[in-house]
Amino acid sequence: MRIINTKVKVGIILFEYDIFVQGFPGKSPTHGGLGWSSIALLSQNDQNIIIDVGSFGVRKLLFQKLHEKGLTPNDITMVLLTHTHWDHSVNWNLFPNATIVVGEVDMNWALNEPTGHSDVPELYIKELDRSPQKRLVGHLEEIVPGIVAHQTKGHTPGHLAYSVDNGDFDIIFSGDAAKNRAELLSRNVDMTLSLSDSLDSIDYLWNLWRKKKDNIMVPGHDIPMKLVDGKPVYLQKREAELQCWFSDNLEDLTDVKLVD
Ligand SMILES: [Zn+2]
Repeated sequence: MRIINTKVKVGIILFEYDIFVQGFPGKSPTHGGLGWSSIALLSQNDQNIIIDVGSFGVRKLLFQKLHEKGLTPNDITMVLLTHTHWDHSVNWNLFPNATIVVGEVDMNWALNEPTGHSDVPELYIKELDRSPQKRLVGHLEEIVPGIVAHQTKGHTPGHLAYSVDNGDFDIIFSGDAAKNRAELLSRNVDMTLSLSDSLDSIDYLWNLWRKKKDNIMVPGHDIPMKLVDGKPVYLQKREAELQCWFSDNLEDLTDVKLVD
């Protein structure tokens, strides 16, 4: 997987920015949500921040990506969750030394969702609620210098996007407030609890994106983009692939590339 490896200046702090796992803009009509969400790492000295942590299927890949950076889960100092859905939040408990940042409104909502009623992983959210690692945050709260939470509700009632200010350009992690390029461009969304709130959030994200010429948008289920002449342009090549056992032996794998 191709990795962005850019030195990012956040105020006086330099962050290294990596996309560990690319988000994928799709769902399955036969097998439900794929849950292939974006996972990113921001590093600066001994500060390592992961933005969204994915679900069970991505664990080995996540450990491998950390290993390639010379890191272990113990080195992660902070996890920023955009929202409490399973495909973004379940792996929070892999990082014993991290502060787990989550929207206060989203936590209160998730804790009161009836079992099986939504994409909330009920038990993991209950565990997070009683964990001393939890840090609840709200709209426009500065998490660490240069990183700000933005309430972008609709997909969930307390969804947060995060902006990382580097002086010259910001990186905006939209989570599922804008899951992919199609939602940003069409200004319409799939899977929301409030369409009007979601449309307001899309407008809000566009305003953040246009603030500086070279701002980068990282959607919850798509690859990073930049605006060129006002139009989103992908900054990476999409890498998504299935390996299928359709024949009579294990060696003969059929590769299915999920690319546009
Ligand atoms: Zn979601």
